[in-house]
Amino acid sequence: MPRVFNFSAGPATLPEEVLAQAAEEMLDWHGSGQSVMEMSHRGKEFISIAAEAEADLRTLLDIPDGYHVLFLQGGATLQFELIPMNLMRGKRSVDYVHTGEWAKKAIAAARGLAPSVNLAASAEDRGFTYVPPQSTWRLSDDPAYVHYTANETIGGVEYHWIPEAGDVPLVSDMSSNILSKPLDVSKFGLIYAGAQKNIGPAGLTIVIIRPDLVGLGVPTPPLMMDYATHVKSESMHNTPPTYAIYIAGLVFKRLLATGGLAGAEERNIAKAAVLYDFLDASDFYANPVDVADRSRMNVPFTLPDPALDAEFLAGAKERGMVQLKGHRSVGGMRASIYNAMPIEGVRALVSYMAEFAASKG
Ligand code: PMP
Repeated sequence: MPRVFNFSAGPATLPEEVLAQAAEEMLDWHGSGQSVMEMSHRGKEFISIAAEAEADLRTLLDIPDGYHVLFLQGGATLQFELIPMNLMRGKRSVDYVHTGEWAKKAIAAARGLAPSVNLAASAEDRGFTYVPPQSTWRLSDDPAYVHYTANETIGGVEYHWIPEAGDVPLVSDMSSNILSKPLDVSKFGLIYAGAQKNIGPAGLTIVIIRPDLVGLGVPTPPLMMDYATHVKSESMHNTPPTYAIYIAGLVFKRLLATGGLAGAEERNIAKAAVLYDFLDASDFYANPVDVADRSRMNVPFTLPDPALDAEFLAGAKERGMVQLKGHRSVGGMRASIYNAMPIEGVRALVSYMAEFAASKG
């Protein structure tokens, strides 16, 4: 069976070269006589794998000296809670920008943990189809941080700019667009991302945190919930997701070898243009998101009649294109076209979409 074009929102397609290398190294990693999965996380082999992955991530994102990089577990979902638990610093309120399903979950988690949650802005008025411009944001008085969701994986809405928060730490969920373009990490207090889109396998969560925000949480935090624990133990307080870290490391190396994040951005712009240009020219398919805020990673689209969805999906599958069904909360279709989706996959999708529309015309 040839490999399919996998448009899944996550876990998602990975670079074929990375999978091939992992296969080659599966039984004997670099002459160690063992698979990475079998290694002690405290042995020198795995320590070198983790250190190299971290160093490569630092190079890719040009992470400023002093910022901590943590390789954790629990998904972005655990971060929804750790952020308010760790970052209050005695302040009264936290600010969130509401752009859709993932922002909503982050906000719900904060409501249980922060004394007051202020919605600085919300795109609910137009069904979460845009990013509220910064000029409309109303920050609370002296919030502990401002949180935004850099890319709404379900709604297909992405920030193509970095908010200005002044002295207030800026916190961002970058689960579904990290490593898709260059990023000025120095503008952030904390960045977090689950790995299973642009980084590697599920099970690994990356947190990048400015040092002055570590260790100021609740007076006696549970150790696993305290960023200070993970900083102190260099992400080895307990057994880390070793194989996921290894694969992430291979993905970082591949990105470095293919033009870094500027190269990734160029490819992602080109790929997204193929799909959006087609959608804009079509009167059969539609995408609801404001043009300036469209995601380069997740492209939702609808057919004129939901009754056609099942036939569309079946035809796509026959042609080797899978996981195009939209999220249950919005319906329709969604094509996730992360870093590892080749432009050939997007071209194949567009050509099938044209064929399908013509067959109904
Ligand atoms: N935030 C965003 C933007 C996501 O896309 C996801 C997962 N799809 C999550 C958070 C939750 O991540 P996890 O399932 O790894 O906890």
